[in-house]
Order: sequence, then C-alpha cells, then structure tokens
Amino acid sequence: MSNRKARRSATADAALATRLCHSPYQAPQGFASFAPATERASTVLFENCAQMRATTWQDKSTYTYGLHGTPTTFTLEARLCEIEGAKHCLLAPSGLAAIALINFALLKSGDDLLIPDNVYSPNRDIARWLAREHGISVRVYAPGIGAGIAALIQDNTRLIWTEAPGSITMEIPDLPAICAAAQARGVPVALDNTWSAGIAYDGFKHGADIIMQALTKYQAGASDLLMGAVLTRDAKLAQKLDICHMRLGYGVGADDAYLILRNLPHLKLRFEAQDRAARELAAWLQTRPEVAQVLHPALPESPDHALWRRDFSGAASLFSLIFQPHYSSAQIDAVADALEYFGIGFSWGGAHSLCMPYDIKQMRDAWPHAGCLLRLYVGLEEVADLRADLERAFALALR
Ligand SMILES: *Cc1c(COP(=O)(O)O)cnc(C)c1O
Repeated sequence: MSNRKARRSATADAALATRLCHSPYQAPQGFASFAPATERASTVLFENCAQMRATTWQDKSTYTYGLHGTPTTFTLEARLCEIEGAKHCLLAPSGLAAIALINFALLKSGDDLLIPDNVYSPNRDIARWLAREHGISVRVYAPGIGAGIAALIQDNTRLIWTEAPGSITMEIPDLPAICAAAQARGVPVALDNTWSAGIAYDGFKHGADIIMQALTKYQAGASDLLMGAVLTRDAKLAQKLDICHMRLGYGVGADDAYLILRNLPHLKLRFEAQDRAARELAAWLQTRPEVAQVLHPALPESPDHALWRRDFSGAASLFSLIFQPHYSSAQIDAVADALEYFGIGFSWGGAHSLCMPYDIKQMRDAWPHAGCLLRLYVGLEEVADLRADLERAFALALR
C-alpha cells in the first residue's frame, strides 16, 4: 500500500462549489502522441508530508514547485542539452535574462569582467551597469584578440564573455585560443551561441564553459515568444547558476516551452534551408555596386572566413551589409523603408525576413568601416523574391 495522502473526489451529493474543485473524472490511461504534454503548475502536489520534507528544489528527478520545473520545462531543458552537448540547462524568460543570470551567478563586487567590443549590446549595457553601480570592473577587448586575451586576465577576473560571431558585425572569435588562456587562469568563458542555434557551432568542443542561447530566435522559429537558456557541462558552475536562477525567480510558461518543443524537430531543416538562401543572397549582394562589403562569415570575401571554415559546420541566415560610404544613413533608412518583404524589427529566427539599420560607431569602441550598416535576416521566403525586393529597394532609395 502506498502511503499517498487520500484525495477525496466529490460525490454527486456534495455541494456544487466542492464538485467544481474536486471532480471525480479521470481521463482514461493509455494516451500516446508525439506532442509532449503541456503540464502547468504553480502548486505541485506532494504525496504526503514526508515526501514534501524529503524533496529539495535542486533535485530534478522530482517536482517541488512550478517555478523549479514541470515535465514540460524539464523536457525542453533535456532537448536543448542534446542539441548543445550539455549536461545542465536552465530556462530563462528571455535571452537577455539568460545573460543576466550568468553575470549575476558569477560576479560580485571587486570582480573583473571581460567583454568583446562586438558583444550583444544589452549585454554591454548590463556590464556598464555592473561597473557603475555594483563595483565590478569591466574591460572591453577587441573581438580578434585570440590568445592575446592572456595579457588581460587579472587575478580578480571571474568571467570572459564571447559571442560567435559577434552581434550584427559578424566577427568570429578564436574561441579555442581564448578558452585555452582562460582555462590556464581558471576563468570561465561564457559563449553567446545564438547565431548558430547550437547546431552549426559546437561551443563546448571549442572550449566554452557556459553557453547561452536566445531561444527567441531559431528555436522558437515564429517571432512569437521570448525565452533563453543557459547550458553547461560543469557540475560546479551548474550549481552556482541554479542557485542564482532560483533566487532571481526565473520561470517560463508551459505554453511557451511547448511551442519551442513543437518547433525543434524541424530546427535543423529550417536552419540549413535558410543558410543556403542567405548565402545565395549574400553572394549576390557582394557583387552589387552599392555594397562595399558583405559581413557574412561563410563568404570567402568576408572577414574571419578562415576561422568560420575551421570551426563552423554552417551559418545562420543573419548577416550585415556595409554600404558605400557616400550613402547617408537617411538613404539606408530609405532602403529599409522601401523593402516590402523584409520587415523592420528587432530579433530574428522566424519565418519572415527582416532588416535593421544599426549605427555601429555609436555602439563600439572601434569600428573600421565608414559606410552605413544594414543587418538582414533571411526567413523562409523564396530567394528570387527577396533578391527582387532588394534590387527594387536599392533602385528606389539609392538613385
Ligand atoms: C536576441 C539575442 C539575445 C537576446 O535574446 P532576447 O530573447 O531577445 O532577450 C542575445 N544575444 C543575441 C546574439 C541575440 O541575437
């Protein structure tokens, strides 16, 4: 006999209010489908007091409270671990929340943080805030630093951020060289691996200790939800992250977790098809007289192509154009406005193509290009139609 606490099912003679809360109906056993169950809870029921007292929130083989996991969120964490080759995964309400979690878990006042000049700009903003108000020293390194990072590592350096490739500007870091230098000094390296969705770049193989994903992008795949993930193989780091995750009270909704689970089976197909389409467009754009340079690491003419070839098995459909320097930013805005299939909007990863002009000089310590930058995200439309859209927009706006 189990000592499971008895739960009363209201009988027909019970009051309606009680029957509404304690209906006796149980769905038949034996249901099976491909869709993972969307299980919801704030309250998780314990079998009895003894089980409640014996259960800790850290134990992922059981359930304590909705915030600490349900079968749906545990399933998503496990699936993301499989993609990235991780052992531990935590979900966060957004990619930025995942970045903040890593910073808060590993840094305290008196510590030193290194970030690349091309880091995702809200990450840089958090770093500035940590420096200004929380007594953490923050230093910005050149994205191409490689093994040179060794000279910047101090005794109090507690975290090095990397991004492969850098947001918007697409420089590829020499991650193995950075990680070797960091490991020699016992400093963990966090990698923002959002661009590759974890399928075109093996961050752990290249030395990262912690990987962060904005699941908002390709994993969600439909421009309709926000979520982030923090992944690691290291039990000690996982524990630090886990405690911080609990203290910050991060939770994600079962419906959002389900929507990502629903789209994972075709993640690789979408990624590869979009990669092909984007490379075709990027190669064509490289031949256009209006364009000074295409920043797409899979293009042989693009900076850091050699590192991309060495370390990546594919490319995201997100890349940037540098226009000839005689075009004003108003003209590049006019290109964005004239595009009819490319929406103007932040984020990416969904079915619809997007464009976004960025004033990189305002965002960076150093930036070698004089021309304006337009970032393109290639969705699931036919390449020929996207190309015609770009051709028409250039003709209209850059006469
Ligand atoms: C979008 C993005 C993030 C943040 O993700 P959100 O879910 O939008 O907060 C972080 N890093 C990179 C590289 C991104 O593209």
